[in-house]
Amino acid sequence: MTRHFPYILRLVVCGLAATVLISWSLAAWSTLTSAEVNRPPFDSRFPPLGITPPAGWELRTWVPRRGPGLRHDIVTEMEWIGSRLGMMEGRGNRYMERAAAGWPVPCLQWATDDDTKPGPILRGLPVPLPHREWPERRLPLKPLWAGLAVDVAVWTIAAMVLVTWFGFVRANRRIRRGLCPWCAYPASGTAVCPECGRAAKALRTPGPS
Ligand SMILES: [Zn+2]
Repeated sequence: MTRHFPYILRLVVCGLAATVLISWSLAAWSTLTSAEVNRPPFDSRFPPLGITPPAGWELRTWVPRRGPGLRHDIVTEMEWIGSRLGMMEGRGNRYMERAAAGWPVPCLQWATDDDTKPGPILRGLPVPLPHREWPERRLPLKPLWAGLAVDVAVWTIAAMVLVTWFGFVRANRRIRRGLCPWCAYPASGTAVCPECGRAAKALRTPGPS
């Protein structure tokens, strides 16, 4: 187990890198579609993603939007007029939004306003995209730990499958060429590689090159 530790660690690092890159790609480019617009009283899924509306806000609209691997929620004091949010004079028109991205489950998130956890980690990184559209896209930085664990596990397994498959293909190619499958030393006709000392049964029967 100890011998395999660096190998496993490398795979987990690959899985983590894939998780973050996929989450950021989805946050930047996944196509959002508007879901139904909710008004108070909000159902049990509210507040979405753990948003804590600042004290004193009178929330009137919750707009959940969804895309592949991306969810984006807006909660606001504005009213939904037809197909957009409309400001009203003489009252608060504040809004806050939160997005979570990742596949197969959301693993990173950002928010514009949260009275409980301010700071750049929660606000994410604004991305300058050529085709900017509303809502603004940001790269999320705040981990959703359960989702992160799931996604890293999935992409670590994917990395393991890929590395195993690549190693298998490479070993087969070397064996066909009469080389040691481990170190590529020309070891045709020997049972044990004289270079790396590893046994390789397949070396006894090198195929036609
Ligand atoms: Zn060898």
